[in-house]
Amino acid sequence: MTLPFDNSYAQLPERFYEKQNPANSPDPQLLRINTGLAKELGLDRAWLEGPNGLALFSGNGVPAEATPLAQAYSGHQYGNFSPILGDGRALLLGEILTPKGKRFDLQLKGSGRTPFSRGGDGKSALGPVLREYLVSEAMHAMGIPSTRALAAVSSGENVFRQDGIVPGGIFTRIAASHIRVGTFQYFLARKDDEALMLLADHVIARHYPLARSYIGLLDAAISAQAGLIAQWMSVGFIHGVMNTDNCAISGETIDFGPCAFMDDFHPDRVFSSIDRNGRYAWGNQPVMAHWNLTRFAETLLPLIDPNEEKAVARAEESLKKFAPQFQEHYLSRFRAKLALPSDSDAGFVDNTLDLLASQRLDFTIFFRQLTLVAAGGSDTKLLALASDKEPFKIWFKTWQSLAKPETHLSEMKHANPIRIPRNHRIEEAIQAAYKDDFTLFNHLAGAWIIPFEENDDLADLETPPLPEEMVEKTFCGT
Ligand code: AMP
Ligand code: MG
Repeated sequence: MTLPFDNSYAQLPERFYEKQNPANSPDPQLLRINTGLAKELGLDRAWLEGPNGLALFSGNGVPAEATPLAQAYSGHQYGNFSPILGDGRALLLGEILTPKGKRFDLQLKGSGRTPFSRGGDGKSALGPVLREYLVSEAMHAMGIPSTRALAAVSSGENVFRQDGIVPGGIFTRIAASHIRVGTFQYFLARKDDEALMLLADHVIARHYPLARSYIGLLDAAISAQAGLIAQWMSVGFIHGVMNTDNCAISGETIDFGPCAFMDDFHPDRVFSSIDRNGRYAWGNQPVMAHWNLTRFAETLLPLIDPNEEKAVARAEESLKKFAPQFQEHYLSRFRAKLALPSDSDAGFVDNTLDLLASQRLDFTIFFRQLTLVAAGGSDTKLLALASDKEPFKIWFKTWQSLAKPETHLSEMKHANPIRIPRNHRIEEAIQAAYKDDFTLFNHLAGAWIIPFEENDDLADLETPPLPEEMVEKTFCGT
């Protein structure tokens, strides 16, 4: 079989990337292939599961049609600009054209050093590989735009990390593209207007063919982020590291380093070990997305209008649309979670979240129990969640008077996942994998892609962590 590569990024000028081959893995083992995704991509399952697939996923064999390269990009990390980041532990092998004519990047993550590796080893520990596999596929299954997991392999060599020596792994990531706000910033930092125009034209053709202008591109990216962040928040997701190099122009969720789904709700919740000021807290994500989009808009100014003042005015006009668009998506998501009609009072969503925060309620279980009540079930379990009964009952009575489950139940069910990738389970699966036991990882990978499906056999995955299982901090995968 030949892979249906069609590599448009490699056609861009050489200053967009560094050509680089993957390093060899000494003893790779295939851990999991996403057969559903392989089918969507038009790839042959038997081929992928055989020696050719293993060679592809481990970096030991580069398909003839691939053009492996490390993409150049910059990025604002926690607000500080790094002019050169780039793929330091990832390689774009090329783009696959699916039978339906859609284009996807096929990228190896953890495949060795590149000219952008700086002091790093270019490798990935197995833990972050498994984490990204589980979380990105769960996101996709919930209907949230995300990069995808095609395969995970162990490399057969150890890597050295802060927490010790751990097995290495390689992740095969599929994305509409890996072009980030940081990719544009790379060329702005170099005052390379020609490259900015080529990149913008590439992105318009690839992601936003309906955008007829550079301001149209900005508008499209703004709309995509507004919808995305609302979706994240509606399932209690905290990305954790919304740096501009981790903000995909396609509007897909990208990079699952220190991310987490909240157990008990608080708008200020942060997991990332290095996010000391709560920059990327759950409730701050729209502010940060707007900040990232402002950085994106800056890169487009020379293209929007040769007159800088006019360009700034037009970009500002577009950026102003983010807040109302986000608010609309956010309200519609939360109204769906509560089975509320579209003209219901927005204040009730705030009241609900205040209740959750003040009573330290588990975000997912609360909405799950509410959905069961809306479906005609008993309210005993829901009311039992309350730590302070009276305010909870008052809230519940108001909800009963406002909710319209007769007409909104199906929406409600699809807005409230039964199972989310809880951190303590991910951690448990990683620790088992480090002891060569992949049973839990495979179990989770199967369970988390059916988030809305009732299944009593998976009830153990609905429960929050016990106090001793709580994961308070997550770490970047580096
Ligand atoms: P990330 O944490 O994935 O957003 O990565 C931030 C930057 O650090 C990117 O430029 C990565 O390529 C680079 N990086 C992360 N881990 C490594 C590593 N193990 N070796 C080399 N570069 C790395
Ligand atoms: Mg990144």
